[in-house]
This record gives sequence, C-alpha cells and structure tokens, in this order.
Amino acid sequence: MPELPEVETVKNGLQDLVGQTINQVVVRFPRLRYPLDEKILNQAAGQQIIAITRRAKYLVIHLETGFLICHLGMSGRLTLFKNAPDLVKHDHFDIVTANFTLRYNDPRRFGCLLYATKLDELSMLNELGPEPLEKEFTAEYLHKAISKRKTPIKQLIMDNAIVVGVGNIYACESLFLCGISPLRAGNQITMAECQQLVDIIKRVLQQAIAAGGSSLRDYKNANGELGYFQQSHNVYGRAKQACKICNTLILDVRLGQRNSFYCPNCQL
Ligand SMILES: [Zn+2]
Repeated sequence: MPELPEVETVKNGLQDLVGQTINQVVVRFPRLRYPLDEKILNQAAGQQIIAITRRAKYLVIHLETGFLICHLGMSGRLTLFKNAPDLVKHDHFDIVTANFTLRYNDPRRFGCLLYATKLDELSMLNELGPEPLEKEFTAEYLHKAISKRKTPIKQLIMDNAIVVGVGNIYACESLFLCGISPLRAGNQITMAECQQLVDIIKRVLQQAIAAGGSSLRDYKNANGELGYFQQSHNVYGRAKQACKICNTLILDVRLGQRNSFYCPNCQL
C-alpha cells in the first residue's frame, strides 16, 4: 500500500505538470472508493495547474479556482506520460493536458479522485491532525494528545486525527527504535518518550522518502514498471524471526485489526 513516503515521492515526480492547463479528465471506470463524476471532475478543464502538494496521503492539484484531490488507496499508481501508451487493465482515469497524460491504474479500486472549489469542503481533509514532518508535530503536542488515552500507543500514532501518515510499517519500526512496546497505553508514555518518538518518526519517514526518491528512478520490475523500494525492516513482517539486537523472537499481535510486530525484550 502506498504510504506517506511513496505519496511524497509521487508528488515530487508530478511537478512537471505545474503550469500546464488541463484539457480534460477522462473517466473509464467510475466505481472507485467514491464514485467518480466525470461532469464534476471536468470543472477542472480549462484551468491551469498552480501547484501540486500532499496532505496526509492525499495528492492535491491546486487549480485556478478549484482543486483535484487524489488518493491512491491500496494499490493505486499514477504515471505521467508524454505520449500515453495503449490502455491496460485497471486504467481507470486520465488527467490530460497539452503535453502530458497523467494516468491512474488501480487493481483494487480503493483510490479516489474528487473536485472541490474549496479544500475545507472536504471532511476527510478537515479531520486530519498535523503532518509528521512539519514543525507542529512536537513532543509537547503528542504528549497532550495522548496523555489521557488508555489506547495502545501504536494505535494512537496511527490515528490520523493525532498525526497523519504514520502507516503500519513506520509505526512498528519507530516504536522498535524507541524501545517502546506497541501495547503500552498512551497515558503511560512520558514526555521524554514522546520527544524520542517524535524525533524517530520524523527520521524514519525522511529516510523512507529519500529511499523512495531514488528507488522510483532506478527500480523496475519484470514488466518494466517503476516500483517501490523494498526496505529492510527491524521488526515489520519479521514474526518468529530473531531480533537483530538481542536474538529474541519477534512477536506479532493484532492491534486495531493491524498486525503489530515487536521485540518483547527490547521494547518495554
Ligand atoms: Zn530485541
């Protein structure tokens, strides 16, 4: 699933579109996470692209009088073509400009594309907490947000209302690097531990963005498609394997319907 670092990398790869005017939005398959309305989306036609930014895992295309908002869901992929190739299965929509076609492919169809005249019309953006890499995400902020909560810390740092974009992999890895058990209640996490968590979450995400940036250029799979860098993890996906620090077997517990990997010796 594309996580915050992948979406950041995709956003950086789309900057050639800035300054282009949208000719047309072509919808081939409207039944994504939210139904795609070709008529509404074509309010974007004739508008110049002013900027492309990211908010949480949403890509935001800023237009002269509106916004296109795209989410990649579980398996979405945006590819920017100078000359669009023949369609393949799961090519659900195109955003067409004079020089480029931005094509969306999504086998599992959990992504979306929306048009809005104002960003605050969209409840899914309004309810989001701060960006983890912005200066608003501090130890003081995190401590205040979790200090009265009995929910396990892993679920709290994955809660988009507290901080956005800390996906399962990054939550597991960050807690391991901090030596904090994913099972501990929010109200048992000290200010010093919040400082450590904030620092490590920022570092882990920045490293993943740096890796994603180079891997998207360099890595192609057997079909010649650009792919995501497979990072090596300390705990994520390593159930019943030895901890790289202490050789204790990594445990896998379900927290909030997500597999949570941790070392019961290193993480307390
Ligand atoms: Zn260990």
